[in-house]
Amino acid sequence: MDGTSRRGVLATLGAAAAAAMSWGFGPRLLGRSSEDGQMQTSAKTKTRTPRRLRGVYPPGPEHWVGDGFLVKTVFWPQIDPQMLSPFLLLDHAARRRFEASPWRRGVGEHPHRGFETVTFAYQGEIEHRDSAGGGGRIGPGDVQWMTAASGVVHEEKHSQAFSERGGDFEMVQLWVNLPASKKMSEPRYQPLLDREFPRLTLGAAEARLVAGTLDGKTGPARTHTPITTFDLRFHAEGSSEAELPSGWTTLVFPLEGDVTVGPDRQPIPSRHFGVFDRDHDGPVQLHAREGARVLVLAGQPLHEPVVAYGPFVMNTREEIVQAFRDYQSGRMGRLL
Ligand code: MN
Repeated sequence: MDGTSRRGVLATLGAAAAAAMSWGFGPRLLGRSSEDGQMQTSAKTKTRTPRRLRGVYPPGPEHWVGDGFLVKTVFWPQIDPQMLSPFLLLDHAARRRFEASPWRRGVGEHPHRGFETVTFAYQGEIEHRDSAGGGGRIGPGDVQWMTAASGVVHEEKHSQAFSERGGDFEMVQLWVNLPASKKMSEPRYQPLLDREFPRLTLGAAEARLVAGTLDGKTGPARTHTPITTFDLRFHAEGSSEAELPSGWTTLVFPLEGDVTVGPDRQPIPSRHFGVFDRDHDGPVQLHAREGARVLVLAGQPLHEPVVAYGPFVMNTREEIVQAFRDYQSGRMGRLL
């Protein structure tokens, strides 16, 4: 891990992962390693043995992003950018009540280049506005998929209506990397509404499919590389299985409630994240002891260098320097 990039990370909407980094939080393996499991068949056999966890990691400390988002940074690139690829960072603002406010809380104007920010609203309302003309308001169940690519300047705030009345608020922001060939492409903004997401029943859980293909259905988000993203809701104790491509990165994040994985019940505590073995082709099998909500992220790894610095994620240090120059000279646009 390179010390410069470690120091350099800022977070989702502002300075979040920097805080996590400065606390020196590193990955920590919980539960059992993949060696002491119960592989019952040889590796060559196409087995239906559930996929195994490679590791479980605790989130960083809770911190404010602007004055609107009290988040834990669940993962960030410096944990291991190749293990996480194509995903970069995940911030979770757990459910929290905001009183009515005479101003709109959130994060003011800031740039991004080289990746996508994906915002999942679970409760409350968020308004984005960006220099590429994108923007809009999303409410409970909606998702904004913003491709910063060559560069946008944007702000992320509670909506006017939510600020006036207050209420419960919960959101997730995910950063998805772009391949080198797409980092300087045109920005794109996809507002995705809750009602557009196909619903699937996967065992005891109900899935909402945001992106990619699952069980014969396809989510509405357009992605630059193959990605499958969905959330699961367990209403009671039970198990759920999902078939996801082998060779892909598969990450599981319980937003609320603890889950366990596979027949030997490896634990992923609430707000930790689990990384699955990439080489295993078995189904991802999750169990909940009671109600739980889980975000599942699967994507084809990029196998490219990751240089993450502040709000920019590129492939080389030179490209990061160029990004700062382009932002400062106004080439990423301005908010009007
Ligand atoms: Mn942002």
